[in-house]
Parts: sequence; structure tokens; C-alpha cells
Amino acid sequence: MSTEAMRYLPIFVDTSACRIVVGGAGTAAVSKLRVLLKTQANVSVFGSHPEAQIIEWAGQGRLSLHRRDLSAADFSGVKLAYLCSGSVIRDRELLHAARAMGVTVNTVDDAGSSDFISPAIVDRNPVVVAISSSGSAPVLVQSIRSTIEQLLDHNLGVLARLAAHLRPVVKSSLQGKARLNFWRDFLAGTGARVLDQHGFSNARRHFQALLRDEPGVTATKGHVSIVGAGPGDPELLTRRAARLLERADVILTDRLVDKRILDLARREALQIEVGKSAGGVSWTQHDINEAMISHAGTGAAVVRLKAGDPVVFGRLDEELDALDEAQIEYDIVPGISSANAAASAIGRSLTRRERNSAVSLITAQDAAGYAEHDWRALAAPGSTFAIYMGVRAARFVQGRLLLHGAAPTVPIVIVERASQLRQRVVNATLGSLLEAFADQGIAGPAVILVGVDSRASSIGATQASTGPQLAAGYAQAQ
Ligand code: SAH
Repeated sequence: MSTEAMRYLPIFVDTSACRIVVGGAGTAAVSKLRVLLKTQANVSVFGSHPEAQIIEWAGQGRLSLHRRDLSAADFSGVKLAYLCSGSVIRDRELLHAARAMGVTVNTVDDAGSSDFISPAIVDRNPVVVAISSSGSAPVLVQSIRSTIEQLLDHNLGVLARLAAHLRPVVKSSLQGKARLNFWRDFLAGTGARVLDQHGFSNARRHFQALLRDEPGVTATKGHVSIVGAGPGDPELLTRRAARLLERADVILTDRLVDKRILDLARREALQIEVGKSAGGVSWTQHDINEAMISHAGTGAAVVRLKAGDPVVFGRLDEELDALDEAQIEYDIVPGISSANAAASAIGRSLTRRERNSAVSLITAQDAAGYAEHDWRALAAPGSTFAIYMGVRAARFVQGRLLLHGAAPTVPIVIVERASQLRQRVVNATLGSLLEAFADQGIAGPAVILVGVDSRASSIGATQASTGPQLAAGYAQAQ
């Protein structure tokens, strides 16, 4: 046999009207059964001391349990057998008996005594991906499996079922290139989008009406997804955010959103930066609303991408009011807010028993300029809060807190570009806040955490004067 020829032929076995026996009822049997019970097979398990999980499955009627050892007589009418009795000698005897009766055998963890081996699977039934290294590199197989897991939409199985339902009508209404284009478009995102928005039955009706050319049905309705881009690190993006970005036709993005996240978008997608930057073109909220509405009005899938979490200082309500008024459908995808990322960067909890049972997120600036707050409460001992948009208002905030009785020794940490490649953590106190900003030349974006200090072991710095430090977690990750 040539060493280059595949030893194992991948096939998918039909389990409808198929009997499978498992010889053994220990933990090895439990892991095999987790997969076997996803199939339509009729499964019998043999073993005198079954694991509790197997007893539970038997109680639910999902398998039949025989509290004795598997024997040769049990192989009649069986298609596949899994042997994992715990005794090599016993499994070997059963292997010969099974083969003599034409049963195909897997001896668990012993490829040499098996007719087939089990692949790792990614299950999006009816779409199933099977992966094997022919036993040569199980860890590699697990890593491939988790890559594919992340790659494939969780809705893929439902999408495949929807496609199966639509095949007859597609076949009768579209020919040649038009049919191919329909499927390409369906699989490139239209199918999943309509499914996400309307559910299975409505999506099926929608496509059927569309294919039958019923009047008034347009390919897709415009839709806006308001998506939290998180603090910067693409790893901190939700999977839904990544998926929506991959499918978007138009992306309206804040200036603060990390460019690495925009790389996830399709090349053909129209990207518009609607940031309100100092200098350069500045978009008004009204212009942003109009842009969302007009693009969605053309039937586009619009992603309105916001730094951090859209529900924190993101003017979300104003955008939703505008969409409601224009009767445009939308959904909202949360993101990790910069205060959360900043707290992780310094290795501190924002709440702590016996210190603070509440935490505030405040902005230093509002529409009118510097924002006023209940400074007395914020200045109270133990008070912990995160200040957004505070870089240019540091002097104002410091003055207000000191005026209302906060001690100059209150610890403060400034986290600039939290989670991004050039993240900086600067330690200070309320009294030294302005020097810390000036000495370190902090330009932002930055979150100022008041009432907590960095965990020294996490960043190895306790004073602003020791200079910028990378937090350990991100220093390793990047
Ligand atoms: N919705 C965003 C906040 C937008 S307001 C969120 O949930 O994070 C803009 C402010 O957010 C900035 O002035 C800054 O204070 C903060 N900010 C945004 N991204 C940041 C980052 N990566 N690091 C530190 N602060 C950030």
C-alpha cells in the first residue's frame, strides 16, 4: 500500500432503520453516545454498572439499557458496534464475533482493532462536517473543529432546511443563470438575513412569493443593525457582530471603531465614517439618521457600527426614534463597553463587597459642555465610577470632586485605547490627575476609573510617574 493513499474513506452512514450496539456503559460509552443519540439509530447499551447519564437516557427512552455484558448473540441485525467494555481481552473476543456476523466495529481508542474510526464533527444538521487526521493528530483535529465551529453560522442548519423547502419552487420558476444567481445570493446572506428577521415560516413564504413574482414583494426589505464594536480588539467582538459585518451592504461607522474590525466587512460593502471628529468633516446626528434611513430604504443591509456598547453614551435612543418614525426594522447587538475593558486591563473589579455596591458610568461632557452630576455622592468615600469623554474635562472633574470633599488621595486609573494595540494604563490619584494627563500626553480615547487602583501584579506600576504600562493580559495576547 502506498503511504500516500488514504487509509480511511469518509462516508456518512444512514442511521434510519439502523441498529447500533455499545458494549460498555462507562465514561467512554457516554462520550460515544453523545453523538450516537443525535442520530436516528436504534441504540442498545450493554454493561452491568452503567454511568448515571446512561441510566438517565434509558429512563428518557432514548436508548435501551441491558445491565449485563454484550455477547455474540446480541449482534444479530446490528449494523455498527462500539466496543468499550474496559477489558481489552473481552473487546477482542467480541470484535471477532461481530466481524463473523458482518457487523462493522469500532473498538474505542484502538484504531488497530477497528473497521472504522469516528471523526470529530461540527453539527449544523442537516449540514455536518466530519474531520479526521486518521488518528495522527487529535489535538490538531480539535483545533480545526473549533475553527470551523466559529466559521459556520449557528443558523446554517435551518438555512439548509429552508433551501430544501425552496428547491422545488426555485426549480420551476428560475432557469440556468438566474437560478444559480438566486442560490448564490441566498447563500451569500439574503437567506440568513430574511431568516434572522422573520423566522422560518415567514421566510419560506417570503421567498415563495418572491419566486412566484407576486406583486409587491421586493427581494429584501432594508434593515439596520445597530452593532456594538467593543473597545477595539477584534477578539472582543460578539459573533453576531462579526456575522452582520460580513453580510452588510452598507456600514456607517463611528470614528472610534478600530480599523481591524472594519476588515471583517466584505470588500464590496460601502463603508462610511460618520464620526463626529474634531477637525475634518463632522456629521450631525440628523445626517447620520438620514443616511441610515436612505440606505435601508434602498433595501440594503445597513450596519450602524458604534464603539463599545451602543447602549452606553451612544445616542442610541435618538437613532431608534428616527428608524421607528421611518418604519425601518432594526435590531441591536450589544458590545463590550470601554469601562468594562478598562477594568479588565487593570485587573480590578468595578464592584467590591464592603467598598462599593454600586458603580456609575458618567460622561464628563454633554450637549451643553461639561456635564454636571451629583458630585457629593460621587465624592463620597468608596465611590467607584468610570468617566467617559473625560480627557478634555479632567480639570473640571477634579475641581468638582475636590470641592465636594473627595480626598486628593483617591486612586484613579486612566486607561487609554483600552484593548487596542497601543493600550496604556496610567496610575494617578485625584490630586495628581492633571500632571498624569500632561506628563503622559494622553490624547484619548480614554476611560478614567475613579476609586480603584491597578492590581500591581497585573501591570507592575503604582504611580503615574513610573510611566505608561501595558496590562499583562494584552501584552501577552498581542
Ligand atoms: N459606546 C461607547 C462609548 C462612546 S462615548 C462605549 O460603550 O464604550 C466615547 C468615549 O468612550 C470616549 O471619549 C472614551 O471615554 C470612551 N472610549 C471608547 N473607546 C475606548 C477605548 N478603546 N479605550 C478607552 N476609552 C474608550
